[in-house]
Amino acid sequence: MGKNIVAIVGRPNVGKSTLFNRIIGERDAIVDPKSGVTRDRHYGQAEWNGKKFTVIDTGGYVPDSDDVFESAIREQVQIAIDEADVIVFVVDAITGVTPIDIEIAKILRQTKKKVILAVNKIDNDKLELYSSQFYELGLGEPFSISALHGRKVGDFLDEVVKDLPEKVEETEEGKNQIKVAVVGQPNVGKSSFVNAILGENRIIVTDIPGTTRDSIDTTFRYNDTEFVLIDTAGLRRRSKIKESIEFYSAIRALKSVERCDVTVVMLDATCGLERQDLRIIGEAADLKKGIIIAVNKWDLIEKDSNTALEYEHALKERLKVFDYVPILFISAKTKQRIFKVLDLAKIVYDERNKKIKTSELNKVLFPIVKETPPPAVSGKEIKIKYVTQVKTAPPVFAFFANFPDDIPEHYKRFLENKIREHFGFIGVPVTIVFKKK
Ligand code: GDP
Ligand code: GDP
Repeated sequence: MGKNIVAIVGRPNVGKSTLFNRIIGERDAIVDPKSGVTRDRHYGQAEWNGKKFTVIDTGGYVPDSDDVFESAIREQVQIAIDEADVIVFVVDAITGVTPIDIEIAKILRQTKKKVILAVNKIDNDKLELYSSQFYELGLGEPFSISALHGRKVGDFLDEVVKDLPEKVEETEEGKNQIKVAVVGQPNVGKSSFVNAILGENRIIVTDIPGTTRDSIDTTFRYNDTEFVLIDTAGLRRRSKIKESIEFYSAIRALKSVERCDVTVVMLDATCGLERQDLRIIGEAADLKKGIIIAVNKWDLIEKDSNTALEYEHALKERLKVFDYVPILFISAKTKQRIFKVLDLAKIVYDERNKKIKTSELNKVLFPIVKETPPPAVSGKEIKIKYVTQVKTAPPVFAFFANFPDDIPEHYKRFLENKIREHFGFIGVPVTIVFKKK
C-alpha cells in the first residue's frame, strides 16, 4: 500500500505550523479564496523533486487542558510512528533542548521509520552554532533550518523525500470494484454503519480484514457490484484523550480517502457539519474523489415533513462550493436507508467515470460562452473556441481560448455550474483547465 505520509511532530512553538505552511506552499492559504471556507488545515499535499506526499502537522491536535498535554504529545508521536512514512521532529534552536524534546526523542529512537531532526529558527549563519547541542538527542545529524525564512529548507526537503517512492502505485486489480472510504469524526457511527451493512444477508462478503495478511479492507458483492470498504480495521483506536483520537482518525481517514473512488463523509445528525468535516471534504475534493454526505443517527431527530429538506438546505449553505455533494439521511441503528449509501456510491462512481462527447459538450456550452464570455482583460477580448473532456475518473474539461491565462477564477466556477446543470456529475469534483488555441 504505497502511501507517502510525512508527519511533523514536536512540542508547541517550535515552528511546526510555520514549517508545514512552507512545505505545502502559498497555494494552500489559510482561507481558501475559491470557497470562502476557512480551511485551517493540519494536512496538505506537497511535492518536492517530483515526489508527491501528504504532510501532517500534529500541532493541529493540541489539547486545551494542561494535564493531558504531555501524554497527548507522546501518543501523537506514537501514532505518527505507526502511520507515517517519514517523521520530522522539530526543535527550537534558541530555546535549546527541553525535557519534552528528550521525551519525544526517546520514543522516536525506538522506531525503524525514518526520523529527521529539524533544528528550527536558525535564521542566519551566526546561529548555526546552536545546532550541535541537539546531537544529544541521539537521532543523528540535526538539520538546521529556518521555517520562517525558508533558509536551508530545500536541503532538508531533499532528505525528507529521498527514500519515498517516485510514484504511489495505483493497484490495477479491482478495476471493477467500487472502493468506498467511510470517514468522519469519532462516534458519528462509522463502525455501526459498516457492521450494519456487513450483517445483512443482502450482501456476500468475499474478504474481511484479518483473513489475509495485511488485509484491512472488506470486499463484498451487492446488487452484482463488487464493493470494497476501505480500512474497516482502522475505524478505532482507544485513547482517553479526545485530540489523540481525532488525530488518529484524521490520519487514517486521509489514507483511506487517497485510496478510494468514493468518500462517504459521515455526520452525526445531532451535531451537524463541523469544521473537521469541511476539512476532510476539502481534502477529498482536492484529491478529486467522489463525495457523499451521510447524516447518521437520523432516528434521534424529531421530524416533521420538512425536516430533511430544511436540514439539507442548511447543510448546502455551509458547503458552499461543495454544494454538488449529495446528502443522505440514514440510521445505522434502525438500518434506515443504509443501502441507499451503496446505491448512491455506485451512481457517483459512474458519474466520475462518465465521458461526454465533444460534439455534445460544444452544442450545449458554446452558446453559453458566446452569450456570457469571460471579461475582457486590458482591452483584450477573450474568446473561447471549443471545449472537450480530456479525462475521466476524475473528469477534466479543457476549454481552448485565445488568452487562456487571463480567464479569471470565478469564470471557472461559472463554467463548472453550467456543466453540472446540463450534464450532472453529482458528487464529483470537476476540473476545468484553459488552454491556448
Ligand atoms: P508550532 O506551535 O510548533 O506550530 O509553532 P509555530 O509555527 O506556530 O511557530 C511559533 C513561533 O515561532 C511563531 O511566532 C513563529 O513565527 C516563530 N517561528 C517559526 N519558525 C521560525 C523561524 O524559522 N525563525 C524564527 N525566528 N521564528 C520562527
Ligand atoms: P464511530 O466512532 O464513528 O465508529 O462510531 P460508532 O459506530 O462506534 O458509534 C458511536 C455511538 O453512536 C455508539 O454508541 C453507537 O451505538 C451510536 N450510534 C451509531 N449509529 C447510530 C444511529 O444511527 N442512531 C443512534 N441513535 N445511535 C447510533
